[in-house]
Amino acid sequence: MTKKTRRPGPKAGRVAKPLRRSATAGRPAARARRKYVYFFGGGKADGDRTMKDLLGGKGSGLAEMTNAGLPVPPGFTISTDACTLYYREGGKVPASVDAEMTDNLRKLEKAAGARLGDVGNPLLVSVRSGAKFSMPGMMDTILNLGLNDETVEGLKRRTNNGRFAFDSYRRFIQMYGSVVLEIPKDAFERVFEAVKEETGAHLDTHLDEPALRDVVARYKEVVRAKTGRAFPQDPLAQLRGARDAVFRSWNNARAIEYRRIYEIPDSIGTAVNVQMMVFGNTGERSATGVGFTRNPANGAKEFYGEFLVNAQGEDVVAGIRTPQPISELEQVMPQAYRELRRITSRLEKHYKDVQDFEFTIQDDRLFMLQTRNGKRTGYAAVVIATDFVAEKLITPKEAVLQVDPESVSQLLAPVFDPKAWNALPVTTKGLPASPGAASGQVVFTADHAVEWTRQGRKVILVRKETVPDDIHGMFVAQGVLTATGGMTSHAAVVGRQMGKPSVVGAGALEISEASRTLRVDGRTVKEGEYLSFDGLTGEVKLGEVATRPSEILQVIAGEMKPAGSDIYQRFERLLAWADRFRRLGIRANADQPDQAETAYAFGARGIGLCRTEHMFFGEGRIPIVQRMILAEDEGERRRALNELLPLQRADFHGVFKAMHGTPVTIRTIDPPLHEFLPKREDLMVEIATLEAKGESGAGLEEKRRLLRRVEQLHEFNPMLGHRGVRLGITYPEITEMQTRAIIEAACELAKEGTKVVPEIMIPLVGHVKELRDQKAVVDRVAAEVMKEQGVKVKYLVGTMIEVPRGAITADEIATEAQFFSFGTNDLTQLAFGFSRDDIGKFLGAYQDKKILDRDPFATIDTVGVGELVETGVRKGRAARPDLKIGICGEHGGDPSSIHFFAKAGLDYVSASPYRIPVARLAAAQAALQVKVGD
Ligand code: ADP
Ligand code: MG
Ligand code: MG
Repeated sequence: MTKKTRRPGPKAGRVAKPLRRSATAGRPAARARRKYVYFFGGGKADGDRTMKDLLGGKGSGLAEMTNAGLPVPPGFTISTDACTLYYREGGKVPASVDAEMTDNLRKLEKAAGARLGDVGNPLLVSVRSGAKFSMPGMMDTILNLGLNDETVEGLKRRTNNGRFAFDSYRRFIQMYGSVVLEIPKDAFERVFEAVKEETGAHLDTHLDEPALRDVVARYKEVVRAKTGRAFPQDPLAQLRGARDAVFRSWNNARAIEYRRIYEIPDSIGTAVNVQMMVFGNTGERSATGVGFTRNPANGAKEFYGEFLVNAQGEDVVAGIRTPQPISELEQVMPQAYRELRRITSRLEKHYKDVQDFEFTIQDDRLFMLQTRNGKRTGYAAVVIATDFVAEKLITPKEAVLQVDPESVSQLLAPVFDPKAWNALPVTTKGLPASPGAASGQVVFTADHAVEWTRQGRKVILVRKETVPDDIHGMFVAQGVLTATGGMTSHAAVVGRQMGKPSVVGAGALEISEASRTLRVDGRTVKEGEYLSFDGLTGEVKLGEVATRPSEILQVIAGEMKPAGSDIYQRFERLLAWADRFRRLGIRANADQPDQAETAYAFGARGIGLCRTEHMFFGEGRIPIVQRMILAEDEGERRRALNELLPLQRADFHGVFKAMHGTPVTIRTIDPPLHEFLPKREDLMVEIATLEAKGESGAGLEEKRRLLRRVEQLHEFNPMLGHRGVRLGITYPEITEMQTRAIIEAACELAKEGTKVVPEIMIPLVGHVKELRDQKAVVDRVAAEVMKEQGVKVKYLVGTMIEVPRGAITADEIATEAQFFSFGTNDLTQLAFGFSRDDIGKFLGAYQDKKILDRDPFATIDTVGVGELVETGVRKGRAARPDLKIGICGEHGGDPSSIHFFAKAGLDYVSASPYRIPVARLAAAQAALQVKVGD
């Protein structure tokens, strides 16, 4: 039973067996020799949309579009399996795979009617990376491969366009130089800028053939100077070099960082797509662009995108020139525009999802270069899914599966307080790339963003343009603001995906990274000054602006009517669909009536963990709690407890009421008592100060007494010390008081006409006799209270399973417990022996060294801790078939953990109030058996 949850080792697994099988299924001939290269072209492809594992997202999309008869330049995909082999062989593609590639190259040459390296009619190709999960801009792509000093002249003769030929060649040398030969990009950029300056050209497109010939000559010099060799002239050698470089780019630093953030396995590798070039840079009748079938920022149903006339693909996404909105394409090239609309709506219907596409128009002829399901903000995800259902494009079930659970949590992000926001003038405006309110201190580099955030500051990352290397800084910043780039630039795409408020292309910003200043609107802003922007409108303002709850939170808090908020209604609709499909119950971890109300409004139907000690911190209570702790004898302790009793009873009454009769699990006191006392060091300082002042008397004596008790209670390892059930065993009067408060509150509610079934939960039980001891106390007091009140209420007594011994002896414990709740925080702590408060010191190293992929306190370790959970469930239910089982650790709000709990057969998960919507959606996806996050 443990096998199914065990994951394969990091390098071995995912690519190896399962995929191969799918690739050759039903094709006995292929079984003899495995296939590594998949052709597409002439209306037919070897692959299709189901083969993302093997062909990557890009390769599978190209195959699918080819099969659908769309205009896709022909080519072939070298599979991710080949990438695995490349690494296994220490950075070499095996000869047999290389031969398969050259076979496919011949096929491509036939389809294209041109040959690689043929001076009379040269074939040019792009060599494109593409993994299963899209990683925008993280890996490398090379265009115009096949050009050399001779073929460039051939291209010129054939097209009668020298400018175009040399523009293509200079692009190729630059890309090949930086990607394959690893020459820093700025070495080329300096040359390019110099030539532009010498010839007085403002735009790249203003350079004529002689100027571009000059660029090419100087680029070749750069290559010779940096590598000691001439630029490679043999096209087949170029192809091999580019292919291997793309495989290598899987392991560049930014790709690794991206995978870490998005939890993409390192083992799956990238495919390489080799595709005939089509040219958007042949002149004014050519263009290149990217787009979305819906607005990816706010979900609006509009054709959305950008293009550049006389350019190649990289120019649009790199944010070098600010592109034109796609609506203008209708005027410039109406026929191609109409065809693009037709094709992309068809693709949206076909994939039943928003498509993010790339296209190139060569001399008025449209070619599709990529399609994939578009990344979108959480806001857009909810709008689009609900619209799709309304349009009958998908069913509610498909809608539930389409939305990433984290999206609904993005909808809860704060917005600006309109009063404070409107009080400031608009300093400038950029493109609204990703919605949300962002306010913080300006920093100009990703490294500073990380550093400052570590120091507890909130920062806005301001960049001329963001490059993929900035991803770590984007991740921690409150928001990202750039001076260049369009809605589909890297900053925009990544910002949306992260749910990070972003404004891009704010052209009025003059940013100087060197002097760490930014000039805008006649003012200079230095690093550390405050700036705010609204990612939904693109407005940027200087200064700090207070934020306030999102519309959804306002509705939840009753400050806004549901009918007044479109997004709230959509949110509710989606979650109501989710509730139809999920099997897991959803409860909340809440200690106060107001939290309980919020949780209920978010859809929690029950409380899975009410931490009674949090109530002890309530106003005016700490002195009473301290008196209880300091008591010299039982009598004194009971007097203090009697004072706490009415307060706790009122708390429970409030929580029960807020939950409208749904189950409420109340845990008896858990933390070590010294947590309620002042710190030893503080007391010592206070006493020393009093003594130095020569004071004496009751005040000083009291402090000394407190210090003595603090020292008595001092533990070397409080987490493993006198806490949890151990407190109840040594001081049964605490359990008595808490039981009394709970049952009295339940009786009161019963008299008021509300039926509640309290679930009293004993923490940290590892031995059945511990539970038996406490259960006897609970049952005795409950019987007493009911007799006094003349009311009978139903209640359950159960336990947390959070000590490994508790899980292992769950069958014994279940003879006493009516329910289990897995406390996966402590269970993780005790299973690994990692202190949850100290893991920060070494988790980073563990992740860098790939010992752990994820923080086990955030996402459950299914192999080890999960095994304890499964054991607990199995043994517990064997002893008591109707045992109710839930989980109340932080993992209860984590989608992939929820998936595991659903599989483990739990009855419910309990999450913090704000995670309830995420949990509802994740639980539905789990029930529909989809791998969460896939
Ligand atoms: P990324 O994954 O970073 O988007 P791509 O492989 O999609 O990289 O390529 C980058 C750009 O190059 C794209 O905008 C695409 O339009 C362009 N491009 C790629 N292959 C070709 C081709 N065969 N012909 C013309 N343009 C291409
Ligand atoms: Mg692309
Ligand atoms: Mg615990």
